[in-house]
Amino acid sequence: MLSDGIEKIKGVGEKTTALFHKAGIYTKEELLNGFPISYIDYPPVSRIVDAREKEWMAFSAVLQEDFRGRPGTAKEILLARAFDSSGEITLQFFHAPYIRKTVKKGMHFVFYGQVKEFQGRYYLQQPKYFSIEDYREKRKLLEAVYSSAKGIKNYIRRRAIAELFKEDFACSDVFSEGELERLSLPDKKESLRLLHFPENFQEREKGRKRLAFEELFFYSLYLEKEEKEYKAEKELSLYEEGEEKNFFSYFPFSLTASQKDCILEMNTELLRKQRIYRFIEGDVGSGKTVIAFYLIYLTINRGKQAAFMAPTEILARQHYENALKLFPDRIVLLLGSTSQKEKREIYKGIAKGEILAVFGTQSLIQEGLSFSALESIVIDEQHRFGVKERLKLEKKGNCPHTLFLSATPIPRSLAKLLYGSLPLSVLKEKPADRLPIKNALIHKEEQQKAFSFILEEIKKGRQAYVICPMIEENESLPVEAVLSYRKVLRKFFPEDIRIGVLHGKLRSEEKEAVMAAFKRGETEILLSTTVVEVGVDVANATVMLIENAERFGLAQLHQLRGRVGRSALQSYCIFLDRKDDEKSRERLEIMKNSNDGFAIAKEDLRLRGPGDLFFGERQSGELQFSMADPILDEELFRIAREEAMQMLKADPELKKHPKVQEEFFKMITTDTP
Ligand code: ADP
Ligand code: MG
Repeated sequence: MLSDGIEKIKGVGEKTTALFHKAGIYTKEELLNGFPISYIDYPPVSRIVDAREKEWMAFSAVLQEDFRGRPGTAKEILLARAFDSSGEITLQFFHAPYIRKTVKKGMHFVFYGQVKEFQGRYYLQQPKYFSIEDYREKRKLLEAVYSSAKGIKNYIRRRAIAELFKEDFACSDVFSEGELERLSLPDKKESLRLLHFPENFQEREKGRKRLAFEELFFYSLYLEKEEKEYKAEKELSLYEEGEEKNFFSYFPFSLTASQKDCILEMNTELLRKQRIYRFIEGDVGSGKTVIAFYLIYLTINRGKQAAFMAPTEILARQHYENALKLFPDRIVLLLGSTSQKEKREIYKGIAKGEILAVFGTQSLIQEGLSFSALESIVIDEQHRFGVKERLKLEKKGNCPHTLFLSATPIPRSLAKLLYGSLPLSVLKEKPADRLPIKNALIHKEEQQKAFSFILEEIKKGRQAYVICPMIEENESLPVEAVLSYRKVLRKFFPEDIRIGVLHGKLRSEEKEAVMAAFKRGETEILLSTTVVEVGVDVANATVMLIENAERFGLAQLHQLRGRVGRSALQSYCIFLDRKDDEKSRERLEIMKNSNDGFAIAKEDLRLRGPGDLFFGERQSGELQFSMADPILDEELFRIAREEAMQMLKADPELKKHPKVQEEFFKMITTDTP
């Protein structure tokens, strides 16, 4: 049974079980559903004479000597030379005393790692090593790399999952054999095997596609149902002719044409006493929040309640603080980290109707919170929330007016698949006073130049973001991590320049504090992982450096870049490419040459092929899917949509498809972790 605890798997002892538990993995099913973030494709063995710097290579070589500590250094660095018939290479290990016992003079292994060059000599640092037979086995499959953020070593996971497949398990499938055959998709269990132990990238893609199909199918079912249900009559009209004028006068700027159009459309619906249920799409910085505030303004003017839900505490607070400037009375901020005592007060105020607008995160969908008259809701960065979260918030009111805000640039054809016939407003232009961001694409040798440029901006009184892909170094992925990168920055920048460090492992109060300090200008540089990605608005920050830019999806890079260029000041974005091969350069050139999210998404699609994969792989992963990429999988999406429509047409209550019904019910009721 997949619902069995992981401790039932052979070889998973008490200690490993505890590790898994700590990472939030309790059942066999949860183990299987933790998918690799990358794969190692072990190359054929090369001759040492063909070693090339930076390349990941394997050499079949014999140790020429025993490992010895490097003279003059602490004993932690161990070195030994190894040779094949063509040449010799030096092996280097750090903090690995055991190596002296296992790898000795005269022994023969295949060594795999990244080649480094130093003073004309080639090195392999911390290579993996295998017997010749083992390496042959290794090459038969791609080796899965799992996220190590949760503190479980890769081989432990791989071993547990392999054992699970060996023991065999029953895996229920929502699709019948006939359906799968018609759709040419593998069954569920096979798709799981293909993802964890693919022979090659084509296989892996087959597995992904199957799971993506399922995701898109259920999304389509949901959309079909939603389209039927969103329409509702409202008793109260929130709007009176001309009321927007006063709202406009709150802002020191005039609204863009798209913002005005969108408000007009909403007014029309309100006058007709229709429920507003609208997606607001607009590139980063296009000013979606103004639209949301308009709805809140109308709502609280009539003494009704509004709730604004954002995906992170940082964002919720930012919106709350902006809202305070417009409507200072009877509004609150409710966060997970709000004290119990304060929460109780807020709950009371909301239940009694004394509080009219509440800003928060998922804290808004907690059981204990009920409203006296919830008339409107706004979901910011809607793609970050699952269906269940939306529905939970909606249920706290009686068919409340609802706005969904999203910055994911999508082609028109895709909008049809994602939103069906639901109303959609697109904010096409940015505010008039914005200068286009200037972009630069640089190599790692130019890092110091980038730092100098940042320093210049700081001297002008501006602030800077520096983005790294990871928090800590990962055993198998050689990328820059914020914790170690801080030292690199510290070495370069004068002491009086203050650096804030932001990443996902900080407690939420810590994150808030770091963010707040940056907003107030108390730190000049914010060094961060992608947690800073969504919606954060610091107008004085004019430059962003993105390390290992090749590691990110283009859509994500675009979102990140959207943190600068949020005022009339000239802004800059510097992409540092550490891979620097033709392909990664071509991708990043796209970023350099365009500031248009939609054009970027399209170009990206042109360049990517199936099986193409890199860390932070999710492209339109910012859309609520974990396996599917609606841009890449548009055709699959179309088929899934068609299947869902046909199924509902023939069987509206899904009575003849009990497994689908059960899964669908789970989708709209269970919480996402
Ligand atoms: P996003 O669409 O990314 O959520 P925001 O709503 O956060 O964008 O707006 C970005 C910034 O632009 C904010 O500081 C906001 O006050 C400002 N802004 C919004 N609309 C306009 C406008 N019409 N003219 C000038 N600035 C605007
Ligand atoms: Mg926003």
